[in-house]
Amino acid sequence: MTRRRWIADTWTDDSATVTGTQASHLARVLRVRVGQEFDIVAGGIARRGVVDLASADCVRFRLLETIASEAALPLTCLLSVFKFDRYEWAVEKLTELGVAVIIPIVAQRTEKHLAQAAATRVERWRRIAREATQQARRTDVPEITDPVRLESIASPAPGALRLLLSEVEEDRTLWSALASHATPAAQIAIGPIGGWTEAELQWFDRNQWLPVSLGPRILRAETAAIATASVLAAWMESHRAATGDSAS
Ligand code: SAH
Repeated sequence: MTRRRWIADTWTDDSATVTGTQASHLARVLRVRVGQEFDIVAGGIARRGVVDLASADCVRFRLLETIASEAALPLTCLLSVFKFDRYEWAVEKLTELGVAVIIPIVAQRTEKHLAQAAATRVERWRRIAREATQQARRTDVPEITDPVRLESIASPAPGALRLLLSEVEEDRTLWSALASHATPAAQIAIGPIGGWTEAELQWFDRNQWLPVSLGPRILRAETAAIATASVLAAWMESHRAATGDSAS
C-alpha cells in the first residue's frame, strides 16, 4: 500500500525535518516514535525515512533509499482569481489531478476586492496545495506563483499546447484540439466570472492560444478548470502508458 508522504521543511543529503502542523500531527495524532519509518519527500524526491528525533514541533528523519514516484503532469493552469472559497477548492482538486504549476491571474474583470486580496491569499493557496499533495501521495508540490496580470507572463515552452477555455467558442472542442496535437504538454487558461476583455483576448491571440470549448453549457470557472484538467490528465497518462515514460 502507498503510505502517506510527509514533506520535509528542511533537509540535507541524509536527513530531513518536518515542523509546524506536520510535526504536531505526527506527534499528537500518530504518536510518532524514534525508529519508526515514513515516506519523506525532500526537494521533490521521495525517500524512506527513519525517525531519529521526535517532538511536537520538530520531527527529524534519517533518509534512506529513494522510492519510485510519479512526475507531475506537464500541465500549467492560468487560473483567474475568483471567489476565494471556490478558488481554494479548485487549487486542491487541480493538485490532486497532478498539475505542475498554477498561475493565479488578476484579470481586468476580476472583482477589485479579490484582486487586492489575492497577493496575501497566495500563501494559503500554497498551504492547501501542499496538503493536497500529501493526500494525493504526490512527490512534488505544485508551484503556485504570485498572482500576476496576463501581460507579465512569459511565453510558454515551445511545443506546449496553449488552450484558452472559452464559453463562446463554437467550432473547436477541447477534444479535437488534443486529437490533432502530439506533444502531451499543455497550458490551460480559465477566465474570470465576468469574462476576458477584448485586450486580454488579443493577448491570447498574439501568443498563439487556441480557444476551445467544453460544450454549449456555461460552467463555473472552477468546474471548467477541473473538467479540463481531468481530460488532460487522462490524455497525458495514456500517452505516458503508451511510451512507458512515467517515473521521475
Ligand atoms: N462570463 C460568462 C461566464 C464565464 S465562466 C458568462 O456568465 O456568460 C468562467 C470561465 O469558465 C470562462 O472564462 C471559461 O474559461 C470557462 N468556461 C465556462 N464554460 C465553458 C465552456 N462551455 N467551454 C469552455 N470554457 C468554459
